[in-house]
Amino acid sequence: MRLALDEAEAAARGGDVPVGAVVLSPDGTTVLATGHNEREATGDPTAHAEVLAIRRAAAHLGEWRLSGCTLVVTLEPCTMCAGALVQSRVDRVVYGARDQKAGAAGSLFDVVRDRRLNHRPEVIEGVLADECAHLLTEFFRDR
Ligand SMILES: [Zn+2]
Repeated sequence: MRLALDEAEAAARGGDVPVGAVVLSPDGTTVLATGHNEREATGDPTAHAEVLAIRRAAAHLGEWRLSGCTLVVTLEPCTMCAGALVQSRVDRVVYGARDQKAGAAGSLFDVVRDRRLNHRPEVIEGVLADECAHLLTEFFRDR
């Protein structure tokens, strides 16, 4: 999560909402990919931290299945990212702050644990939640 927080700070430096993500290998010892929000930087509406990290991890592994992998992200994933996480077959999603307005991993929706879907990653929330939320609060206060 510390590495994801570093990524989030990089997003803020580029004028993007500070959210960062990291994908860990199945044994949890290797960082396969990192990502941070780049919507403003790239003008791409889908350039969320999780989507970019998932894409890079898949490119690194040479296949789309991220079975066994863990995605760590500073903010609860939105519906798009929750969908991408299900599609990527990650085993575990770890997030920091909850997103009461748009979260799709327990707050507004729970896409990643919906029993109607055939893949449901484990979800661990609240890791360094205060620090993750603080970055966002500061970013929006400065605007
Ligand atoms: Zn998202």
